[in-house]
Amino acid sequence: MIADLYQKYLTCSSVSIDTRKIEPGAMFFALKGEKFDANTFAAQALTNGAAYVVMDNAEYATDERCLVVPNTLQALQQLALYHRRTLTIPVIGIGGSNGKTTTKELTHRVLAKRFRTFATPGNYNNYIGVPLTLLSMPIGTEVLIVELGANQKGDIEELVNICEPGLGLITNIGKSHLEGFGGLQGVREGEGELYDFLVQTNGLIFFHAQDETLVSMLEERGAKKFNLIPYRDDVQLLETNPNVVYEIGEQRVETHLMGDYNFINMRAALTLGHYFGVAEADMHAAIAGYVAENNRSQILQKGSNTIWLDAYNANPSSMAAALKNFEALDAKKKLVILGDMFELGEEGPSEHELMGKLIAECHFDYVLLAGPLMQNALKYLPRAYYFPDKFGLHVWLEEHPMTDTHFLIKGSRGMGLESTLGMIGGGE
Ligand code: ATP
Ligand code: MG
Repeated sequence: MIADLYQKYLTCSSVSIDTRKIEPGAMFFALKGEKFDANTFAAQALTNGAAYVVMDNAEYATDERCLVVPNTLQALQQLALYHRRTLTIPVIGIGGSNGKTTTKELTHRVLAKRFRTFATPGNYNNYIGVPLTLLSMPIGTEVLIVELGANQKGDIEELVNICEPGLGLITNIGKSHLEGFGGLQGVREGEGELYDFLVQTNGLIFFHAQDETLVSMLEERGAKKFNLIPYRDDVQLLETNPNVVYEIGEQRVETHLMGDYNFINMRAALTLGHYFGVAEADMHAAIAGYVAENNRSQILQKGSNTIWLDAYNANPSSMAAALKNFEALDAKKKLVILGDMFELGEEGPSEHELMGKLIAECHFDYVLLAGPLMQNALKYLPRAYYFPDKFGLHVWLEEHPMTDTHFLIKGSRGMGLESTLGMIGGGE
C-alpha cells in the first residue's frame, strides 16, 4: 500500500495538510485535529487543486483521487520513512532542550555554502512536522537537516524512526517541558533517545565536550570514540555585549545573535561545516549573516533604548541563561520584563520561585513580572513590579517612559510578550 502511495507521491508537486495552502497538483493529507476532521475537507482540497487526498474516512471520498488508508497520520509517517529509505544523502538530526532551531538555521546556512541543503521549515519539529519535512524536500537536495522536538518520553524515538538520521546532535539538556517528561531525569532520557538511535546504528554524534551532562549520557550508552566528534574549540568567544563576537585565527567575526549560549550553537554549526568541508571563510560569513526571526534572540534599537527580545519561548534553563548574559552586560540602566514559563507541571511554582532568587542575585534597575506563576518569584523580589497579566504591564510601560535603557523581554510563547514592544518608546 505504501509503495503504491509512494508512486503517486512522486507525481505530486508538493504535500499539504492545510486546504488553504494547497499548490496545484499537491498530495493532501486529511488529518484529524482537535477542532477539525480534515476528511470532511476532501472535496474542498480537490477543488483547491490537490491531485490526491489521503484520508481515513471513506464516507467523504468523492472519486478515485481520494486514497482511503486505515490511518492518515500513520500513512504520512510511513510514506516519509519510505521516502527516507530511498535517500542516500546525509540526514542530520538536531535535538535538545534549547537552541534547536537556532542551531538548525546556523547549520543550514553554513552547509548551504557548499551543498544544496534543506532543513525543517520554521519549527516543524513534531510527529507531523518531521514527516512533512522529509516529504517537502526538493529534488536534488544534498544534505537534509531535521529538527527533532519532544514534549515527553518516546517522542524522539518516534521521530528518529521516521527520519533515521545518520548524524546528529543534542544541543543541551535543560528544564523544558518538565510536565510532559516528568522531571529533568525524564528530559535526559527522552532527549537521549537520539543518542540511543545513533549509537545503535553507528551514526556520527557531534557534541559539546564541555557539557558534562551530554558527556555522561554518551558514556552511559558506551558510544564509540570514532563515532564522536566534539565541537570545535579553535574559536574563541570575545564578547557578548550584547551580540556574540568571536575570533578564529586572526579573524574577528561579529554576529547578530546575543548570549553566550548562542556561541555554543555557532560552534555546533562550525563543527558540522568543518566536517562537510565547507570553506572556512564561507562558514563565518554564513554565521555573521544570520539574523534571528520570530522574536528569538533579537536585538532591537528604539531611539536610545536597546531591547533584547527573546519572547519566542522560555523555560527555566533558557531564562537563566538569558538573565546571566543580561547581568554581564555593561549598561547604564537595565530593565527586565519576564513572563510565566509554561509546561512545568507541578514544578511550576517552585521553578518560578527559584527564578526569583536568581533575579535577586542580579543587579537590574527594574524588574517587571507578569503572569500568575511569576507571583512565586516575588518572595525574593520585594522591589519588583508585578502584574497578573501583561495588560497591567503595558500600562506601566506607557506611564514610565525610559531613556538610555537596556530591556530584556522573555516569557513563554503563550504570554506573547512581544506585545510590550509597542509600549516601549524611543526615549526621545
Ligand atoms: P523549541 O522547543 O521551541 O523548538 P528550540 O530548541 O528550537 O525551541 P530556539 O528556538 O533555537 O530553541 O531558541 C529559543 C530560545 O532558547 C532562545 O531565544 C534562547 O533564549 C534559548 N537558547 C538558545 N540556545 C540555547 C542554549 N544553547 N542554551 C540555553 N538556552 C538557549
Ligand atoms: Mg525550535
